[in-house]
Amino acid sequence: MTIETDMTREEEWYKEKLAQRCLAAMKRNNIPGYYAPNRQQALSQILDLIPPDVTIGAGDSVTLSQVGIIEELEKRGCHQIFDPFRKAGEDCMPASFRELVETGKKALFTDVFLTGLNAITLDGKIVNTDRTGNRASGLVFGPKKVIAVAGINKIVANLEEALARIRQIAAPMNAHRHHIKHDMDATPCAVTGICVDCHHPRRICCYTVIVEYQITPRIELVIVGEELGI
Ligand code: SF4
Repeated sequence: MTIETDMTREEEWYKEKLAQRCLAAMKRNNIPGYYAPNRQQALSQILDLIPPDVTIGAGDSVTLSQVGIIEELEKRGCHQIFDPFRKAGEDCMPASFRELVETGKKALFTDVFLTGLNAITLDGKIVNTDRTGNRASGLVFGPKKVIAVAGINKIVANLEEALARIRQIAAPMNAHRHHIKHDMDATPCAVTGICVDCHHPRRICCYTVIVEYQITPRIELVIVGEELGI
């Protein structure tokens, strides 16, 4: 009898096809990439891309935490790592905005910058939004190499859908994660889940970068066949 309650095989097949379509479009825009079916294989793929002794920078990323890449790089013991959201082997909030800026600036002068992404499009664009610009900056300029990691849930059809995803899903969830969890003065979306295009001092979506093409293949993309990040 055919079992029709378990769609694991079909889901895995579809995710890979979707990721390959996205990667083919990225390749046309000179953005090389890889597909890893799960976070364990992504971790191994990313580690293979990072030679020993290079300096590492990172921005705030749930995806990177879920993959566990910074932790593994720390275990190697040969990298100097600049990540404003990590201290003494633990994920954490920076002690102050000044500390975030200081470590964030050092992260921009590293050999390899690691970042999660808010959206990647089926026509080959990468879209990232952040509050301070540290993640957005590292993606487009500064570090010699960028490894950008995205769960399958970050794939959208085009730029319009990418920007909608950021305002409707990523920014409200990220604001909730930061403001509510850490008992801060919250943006409207952190409470209601709805963007009102606020002017709040903690506005989380201030800078957006769109990578449409790269002259040299500085950014390498890893798409993971799991829902990761927000
Ligand atoms: S503009 Fe304000 S309300 Fe809208 S997503 Fe950004 S932080 Fe939230």
